[in-house]
Amino acid sequence: MAAKPGQVVVLDPGHNGGNAANPTAINRQVPAGRGQTKECDTTGTATNAGYSEHAFTWDVSLRVRTALTAKGYQVVLTRQDDTSVGPCVDERAGIGNRANAAAVVSIHADGSLTSGAHGFHVAYPNPPVNAAQGAPTTRLANTLRDAMVAAGFPTANYIGSNGLDGRADLAGLNLSEQPKVLVECGNMRDSAEASTLSSAEGRQRYADAIASAIASYLG
Ligand SMILES: [Zn+2]
Repeated sequence: MAAKPGQVVVLDPGHNGGNAANPTAINRQVPAGRGQTKECDTTGTATNAGYSEHAFTWDVSLRVRTALTAKGYQVVLTRQDDTSVGPCVDERAGIGNRANAAAVVSIHADGSLTSGAHGFHVAYPNPPVNAAQGAPTTRLANTLRDAMVAAGFPTANYIGSNGLDGRADLAGLNLSEQPKVLVECGNMRDSAEASTLSSAEGRQRYADAIASAIASYLG
């Protein structure tokens, strides 16, 4: 499926490499939607071998951008490198809103310490607080879930249901005025899944599934 003229996709690579060294900036409270505030961001998680979530999300996002750019989509990233601080979660939503994005996908990996916890899940804002968070977001979440399953990734066995998890506490989703979902690609603390998350081949598989879901959703 080819892009329609002017169709913008925003990719939001979770966390950033400079966050851990800048706790004051990262811990400051920002608007989180639904009348709440929340910390600007967190450091994210890592595999037991030390491969960081921020490096994973950055690498996968670049791979998704490459795939979507080849299809003609205009792709905007919420951060420009893997060494800076932030942006904060409210600003990550703002970038998608100001870009009038046709779709926004936040890319993460989880860090559950529950023994045996593994699999991906797609978080979406629930209950919706605007029209974009209703049917369009539901369709984006389902399309991404289906693409991940089709690519052979197991749905999470420790959170959500059938690879989907409605959330009211994620600022980057609450504040979005565009269809936006957040995919936790896998559990970095699960040894088998960590090897997929840590390998370039594994990351390309995640990226291919995410890119194909976005193209399918927009097609
Ligand atoms: Zn994360």
